[in-house]
Amino acid sequence: MSYYNAHLYSEDQCLQHLFTLRFPSVRCAACGRKNAYHRQSKKQCFTCNCGKSHIFPRKGTIFGSSHLPLLTWIHCIFLLTRPKKSITIHELANHLNIAYPTAWRMKTTIVDLIGVRDMAKLEKVSFEYVMKKCARTKIGSE
Ligand SMILES: [Zn+2]
Repeated sequence: MSYYNAHLYSEDQCLQHLFTLRFPSVRCAACGRKNAYHRQSKKQCFTCNCGKSHIFPRKGTIFGSSHLPLLTWIHCIFLLTRPKKSITIHELANHLNIAYPTAWRMKTTIVDLIGVRDMAKLEKVSFEYVMKKCARTKIGSE
């Protein structure tokens, strides 16, 4: 997934992408098999082929406590990291079809995670870098 086409992805593809970024290689805690997880249809989780272990990729990340679709988050990251294209919170809210305070919170959450205060600097960070950081930074207790 690249920043060029992030907006073309579906919610399912976003969840798959998050799972892959977060668990490039994963061993089942129950049966010990490696990379045997498959997507549970209609659930935001992946289940091992043994059926005993489940992984919720959003849980424990900045996306975990949010009710917004992952697609909205990923689109938000895409918009914030477009090179040389500064975006205001107002424009972000319009693009994502969300309320201004929600857009502000999303931007603040992402900016805090990356540790970049100013929007101009955020544009210099790549979409892939932010996605990896979001996927691999643990938030709260799991
Ligand atoms: Zn298993």
